[in-house]
Amino acid sequence: MLIDNMMVIDPHIHMTSRTTYDYLVMKEYGVVAIIEPSFWLGQPRTHVGTFQDYFNSLIGWERFRAEQFGIRHYCTISINPKEANNEPLAEQVMELLPLYACKEGVVALGEVGFDDMTEAEEKYFRLQLKLAKELDKLVLVHTPHRNKKEGTSRSMDICLEEGLDPLQVIIDHANEETVDEVLDRGFWCAFSIYPNTKMGNERMVELVKKYGSDRIIIDSAADWGMSDPLAVPKTAQLMLESNIREDHVKAVCYGNALKAYGQSGEMKEEHWLEPTAIDQRQLYEGNSVLRGQTPMVEKPFQESIIIR
Ligand SMILES: [Zn+2]
Repeated sequence: MLIDNMMVIDPHIHMTSRTTYDYLVMKEYGVVAIIEPSFWLGQPRTHVGTFQDYFNSLIGWERFRAEQFGIRHYCTISINPKEANNEPLAEQVMELLPLYACKEGVVALGEVGFDDMTEAEEKYFRLQLKLAKELDKLVLVHTPHRNKKEGTSRSMDICLEEGLDPLQVIIDHANEETVDEVLDRGFWCAFSIYPNTKMGNERMVELVKKYGSDRIIIDSAADWGMSDPLAVPKTAQLMLESNIREDHVKAVCYGNALKAYGQSGEMKEEHWLEPTAIDQRQLYEGNSVLRGQTPMVEKPFQESIIIR
């Protein structure tokens, strides 16, 4: 454990690509809740049915698996920017989205936005923003790796043109180049601590020193790539060691994610402050999270006449 009893939230992590061992260490390092956005799995999907099964696993199996390790799981639903370029498929996925957007534990539509800034990407970005508006949902915006600055500005323009309130939109994968504009325009500004590409945590320390904690959120964006599911607790630790005020650390690693995504009404602190006891003997559609191991079972507290 890195930090004494500090609770953190990782509001962007793709657990589908990770193991139960990750859940175990994340819990150990204080991660109490996570958000798993719909994303690109690394190989283009060719049938709408694979999206449907993926969405079902986000609201079903993954949620169950996380809870078997004492972590609360939420998700966001979308056709991701990259796969929006397959228009016939994207069209079919759009029809699925309203069916999933209002399910229990779905906190936003996302990741939406730009990958290569194509016309098709813009079309499905706008259609999903219209849907979010119609359903009164929050939006998680992925900003592109290439043309980061232009892509981020354009994404915010489009959100405003579609009539979204900036406080209902989380602009993710921000960096030193984009932070000023995101904060100035009133959006939530999320940073993904992802090794060697998006953002390192020493840079993040400098950003929090400069900008404080208002509307700033930290996540790992961990996925199937070279990423770190402990990025949020490690960054919290580094910030504390770098003499950043504890209330700022708590805000960027916990409180702000809860404030932003809590607006959905789906994510509540009581979910992890008053958890149900872990019982790994439980099954989801006939399957347990175990692969032959002994199940971990937490005994709920019970008053007893025996005093030991
Ligand atoms: Zn992602």
